[in-house]
Amino acid sequence: MDYYSNQIRKLIEELSRLPGIGTKSAARLAFHLIHMPVPDVKRLAETMVEARENVRYCKECFTLTDQELCPICANENRDHRTIMVVENTRDLAAYEKTGKYEGVYHVLHGAISPMLGIGPGDIKLKELIERLEGEVDEVIVATNSSLEGETTAMYISKLIKPTGIKVSRIASGVPVGGDLEYIDEVTLLRALEGRTEL
Ligand code: ZN
Repeated sequence: MDYYSNQIRKLIEELSRLPGIGTKSAARLAFHLIHMPVPDVKRLAETMVEARENVRYCKECFTLTDQELCPICANENRDHRTIMVVENTRDLAAYEKTGKYEGVYHVLHGAISPMLGIGPGDIKLKELIERLEGEVDEVIVATNSSLEGETTAMYISKLIKPTGIKVSRIASGVPVGGDLEYIDEVTLLRALEGRTEL
């Protein structure tokens, strides 16, 4: 890439480290940035740094938040005795968009995948079990219907069963391997309402 100046090359290199961004896309973004007004670029850069510095895990449900407790866990009107387990914060957002779920969440930040070497200890499972020492009526497992999601659901069910707490699984109808965030709200609600006890 000798035909680019050093700084452009560096910018392209940095951008191409982001997931899903190949060299071509990185170059396109780099040239777009260079043609943007300087104040806009500064605002973008500052927003990225601020988000990175201030966003952390909610101490209760482990979703990403900039407070100690996320707005959902801090809301006393939510049903704190019903916990929906999701793989990531984007899945949580998908259920929140339906506006119909009144319980709280637990974000695993991944799913068990022997193939990728991701075991139970690599996701927020221990933290889920710790939460169950409080007053909990039901755990709704809403992991994806991928192999990893199903493996994780089975694992959670086996873990919770002995405690006597009700464990349910969202209904299938959620496309296999489909990321929850791409599924429409009606389908999500149907999956939630049609959940079955594990
Ligand atoms: Zn929370």
